Amino acid sequence: MNKLLIIGNWKCNPTTLAKAKQLFNSVKKGIKKIKNIEVVICPPFVYLSVLAASAKGYGGLRFGSQDCFWEDKGSFTGEISPAMLKDTGCEYVIIGHSERRKYQKETDEMINNKIKAALKAGLKVILCIEKIIQIKKDLKNIKKEQLKNLIIAYEPIFAIGTGKPCAVEKAKKMRNVIGNILKINPVLYGGSVNSQNANDYIEKAGFQGLLIGSASLNPKEFLAIVKNISKN
Ligand code: PEP
Repeated sequence: MNKLLIIGNWKCNPTTLAKAKQLFNSVKKGIKKIKNIEVVICPPFVYLSVLAASAKGYGGLRFGSQDCFWEDKGSFTGEISPAMLKDTGCEYVIIGHSERRKYQKETDEMINNKIKAALKAGLKVILCIEKIIQIKKDLKNIKKEQLKNLIIAYEPIFAIGTGKPCAVEKAKKMRNVIGNILKINPVLYGGSVNSQNANDYIEKAGFQGLLIGSASLNPKEFLAIVKNISKN
């Protein structure tokens, strides 16, 4: 069986490299003995290469990015390409997070282009969705055999950053619907996960991992989640 996956999405935090290093080192130290969970840290772009370099040769943690562009290079001011992410040591990329859909006005077409580029570059894509229709739109014209590196994160918007997690039964229904469409792809739950509720989404609802925002900024809480899940 594949390892359960825990993704820490730091979003636009913390505000200094010194604080990012401190947070990263606490997590790195805390997961040393955890072997049965794949823990992925997704810091802001500016910290990514520094943290990835400091973890070189350390097998315990993986890196992901919170977004990427759909071209590898060129005149696209401000963009970061999948090729650049690969080069910094990234293995994963989050695409289509609801905050990007809302604040950056990312459309399903843009997300579709990003997914195609990221998969082509060899990154593992964590596609965030709230509605089932987004699966069809965001994966348009991508063949099933190209989707082996796709992970879906079911993230109901009402639960993201609100402290109001989705009821486990409702999440389980969504997990099953997604599983019927994409049979082999891991499905994660995200939305106000904490150390008290984390295990329910794995044990009771059958998710293969978690996408964690706010709690990933608190090393004690994040490590408690990882340790609880590792008992499965
Ligand atoms: C997220 O941003 O993907 C997320 C799940 O955030 P939080 O855990 O804070 O709800």
